[in-house]
Amino acid sequence: MSNKTLITKAKIVLLVIFLILGLTIYRFQKPQLVQENQFVLGTFGQIHLYTKSPKSGNKAINQAYQRIREIENSMSIIISDSDIYQLNENAGIKPIKVTQDTLNVIHKGLEYYELTKGAFNIGLGKISKLWGVNIETDNKIPPAIPKEEEILDAKKHIDLYQLEINNNELFIKDPKMSIDLGGIAKGYAVDEAVRTLEGLGIKSGFVNLGGDIFVLGSKPDGTAWQMGIQSPELGSSNVIVKIQLRNSSIVTSGDYQRYIEKDNKRYHHIIDPSTGYPAENELTSVTIISDTTIKGDSYSTAAFVMGLEKGLDFIENLENTEAIFLTKDKRIYASSGIRDEIELMDKEYKLFK
Ligand code: FAD
Ligand code: MG
Repeated sequence: MSNKTLITKAKIVLLVIFLILGLTIYRFQKPQLVQENQFVLGTFGQIHLYTKSPKSGNKAINQAYQRIREIENSMSIIISDSDIYQLNENAGIKPIKVTQDTLNVIHKGLEYYELTKGAFNIGLGKISKLWGVNIETDNKIPPAIPKEEEILDAKKHIDLYQLEINNNELFIKDPKMSIDLGGIAKGYAVDEAVRTLEGLGIKSGFVNLGGDIFVLGSKPDGTAWQMGIQSPELGSSNVIVKIQLRNSSIVTSGDYQRYIEKDNKRYHHIIDPSTGYPAENELTSVTIISDTTIKGDSYSTAAFVMGLEKGLDFIENLENTEAIFLTKDKRIYASSGIRDEIELMDKEYKLFK
């Protein structure tokens, strides 16, 4: 054997050794946390994930945020070339071509409208605009409380059957009606961000858009994600209950998240479509635990509107969906599938089983 062949063979052996060594080290390497917060959809966005390659982890996070911004650009009610802005501007005038994302969310919105018997209504844009609670402005002076006749008039223009769908074209027949996806599109954006991450091989992490959360898989050590439901009291970060979750969405809607205050009364952003006023009942928050965030986003709003008894009943009749209700007088009610998994953290609250 010539010297040259010997050297080539030795090089190959060395390369194989390095490759095996590299793969072994990679296999036993601990996954590292990669994270990024961004302000998206008018709220605080947070993506955390565990990966053995921080470089590809960062790339995955960037792609997930890109997907979220794509959805925001289609469905925002304040971005003037978004589908929804254009759709509302052209109500009673002409149909508007929309993206597949907008179409997906509109179809889901219509499905939930039927399922919740109108408690969830994406057609109530005129009412939410009147209350001024769907979009936060820099103007710190709260808008005037709408007059009763203004509410009664706006309430006449929330009939979702006025929305015509023709392939990818939408048309609002009623010129005084407008669409507001504030109670559903954030959930869709979370699900799409999760799909993007999964498509890039991410198996552990979470996406949180202002309280609409999906946890991917379990933590790198195989244990479940521990999630808490926060106290509704202003400025408090107290956790009321804890729950362990894997591959699941958890979404909370509450009367303390967005509101205006006038004469010591709080007017929050969850509207009861049957009255046109913020839903007024014993509840302070509803948390939904389910397999998709779009469901959680919409059902948490809908169950809040329905109130404790009807809301709990509604959730019990759904598959893959559980709920935790907190009341103003510090009672906790949970649906049957999750009752035994709740850990009470705040002794001022009472868990009713
Ligand atoms: P949820 O309970 O999930 O929803 C409440 C919201 O849903 C209300 O604000 C109203 O919009 C709507 N709603 C109320 N009652 C009902 C009902 N009965 N049925 C159906 N819908 C109802 N906020 C900003 O301040 N600036 C922004 O630039 C901005 N951009 C956004 C862009 C997009 C695409 C979306 C989806 C939202 C945007 N928001 C923006 C709004 C904001 O970030 C949240 O979506 C909003 O505060 C509601 O989230 P939530 O989970 O707190 O409440
Ligand atoms: Mg929500």
